[in-house]
Amino acid sequence: MKVLAPPGRAVPHVFSMEETPRHRFCPYSERNIHTIPQWSSLPQDIRFDIRVVSSVFPFRVNRYVVDELIDWSSVPEDPIFQLTFPQRGMLEPDDFTVMANLHWRSASGETIRAEAQRIRRKLNPHPAGQTTLNVPIFDGQPLKGVQHKYHETVLYFPATAQTCHAYCTYCFRWPQFVGIEGMRIAGREIRHLVSYLKAHPGVTNVLFTGGDPLVMRAERLAALVEPILDPSLDRIHTIRFGTKSPAYWPQRFVSDPDADDVLRLFERIVASGRSVALMVHYTHHRELETPIAREAVRRIRGTGAVIRSQSPVAAHINDTPGVWELLWREQVRLGIVPYYMFVLRDTGARRYFEVPLSRAVRIFREAYRHVNGLARTVRGPSMSTVHGKVEIAGVTEIAGERVFVLRFIQGRDPSWVGRPFFARFDPRASWFDDLRPAFGEPTYFFEHEAS
Ligand SMILES: *Cc1c(COP(=O)(O)O)cnc(C)c1O
Ligand code: SF4
Repeated sequence: MKVLAPPGRAVPHVFSMEETPRHRFCPYSERNIHTIPQWSSLPQDIRFDIRVVSSVFPFRVNRYVVDELIDWSSVPEDPIFQLTFPQRGMLEPDDFTVMANLHWRSASGETIRAEAQRIRRKLNPHPAGQTTLNVPIFDGQPLKGVQHKYHETVLYFPATAQTCHAYCTYCFRWPQFVGIEGMRIAGREIRHLVSYLKAHPGVTNVLFTGGDPLVMRAERLAALVEPILDPSLDRIHTIRFGTKSPAYWPQRFVSDPDADDVLRLFERIVASGRSVALMVHYTHHRELETPIAREAVRRIRGTGAVIRSQSPVAAHINDTPGVWELLWREQVRLGIVPYYMFVLRDTGARRYFEVPLSRAVRIFREAYRHVNGLARTVRGPSMSTVHGKVEIAGVTEIAGERVFVLRFIQGRDPSWVGRPFFARFDPRASWFDDLRPAFGEPTYFFEHEAS
């Protein structure tokens, strides 16, 4: 059944069987976790922790990640295990205890869900004003499923892409997957997006995101992309897809029944005189090492699409310079362009994964100086704040004060971009909000200019 709603109104979010791509990649969730072949070999306390934590955070993994990416002999430290399986440290000790007690007592599903909601609401489910500040108003209505923060780039969240092939434990979009009431961002009707684009001639590129738009069947994805290829929208010169499919399910481009149809879609975009950019989230170099992952990259590049890579730096997963150096080296070898190193946003389980900014900048530097110029297309560490993407360019001393040198890579106001500014050095700061302007200034330059 199709539910039609007036523009801008939320509709109940229901997947039909036909829409859901589940059957294709054998997903495991908390419900069938015991069917993972390696499950019974995990120590009992780890299995218990996973059950407790996955009642709060979304959990999903698939056969490929389990069989080919995780090294089960080094669990629990294995980085891909940390990346995809909920960990005890992701909950505050008190919350863990409360939730663990409910599981011990075999409390009802309803009781567990209520407690999970209580915990989730404490975890800043929508950082950086995502559901309010960036949603454009069009024809007097908020345009659901669209974010427009930076002048040239419009983000589109198709309703059928509100999932991923596996879920990253540090994901900042976790509330979309657990369905915290009123917190899904998801667009249903492409024609609203097209009207919006026609009315905004400054927009040069559209970024399909989610979740992961490449969980969609090719046919459905094509139906969303093709209206934008209309000659009247010629100034949209790039279509981007934010995706982790080449890492979590490279079969998407190699052996899925519609793998070739996805590639044909990329070719059609290129043939329309535009470029295709796959903004791929590669977290660890292991994701690039399997033969099928390399084949996926080869086939995607064969269509003329450019693959750019971005990922956050996260404790327990990739917080050493060696991992980043290898990640960038392997990317350059495969023809992937390193693009961003991000800082994890202040949401969800960030306490467990957070890396102090002072350390993030050392990791970046150390890796950056060991790679040649072809890998130095990468920028970061970058924080996606409410004001824009702020890069930590370095740490230095000015007039006797130790400071972070900061710079907007993207700004809510384009005139801020590139202008250096300074924050007082704080070795424990792990997010922009922890910082204060340097030199005793009450505000940063963009705060007094904005008023
Ligand atoms: C990162 C981001 C973009 C894209 O920025 P680029 O620097 O052009 O890659 C667009 N919109 C939002 C909201 C973003 O966070
Ligand atoms: S791929 Fe991106 S959206 Fe999907 S779970 Fe990972 S971080 Fe979240």
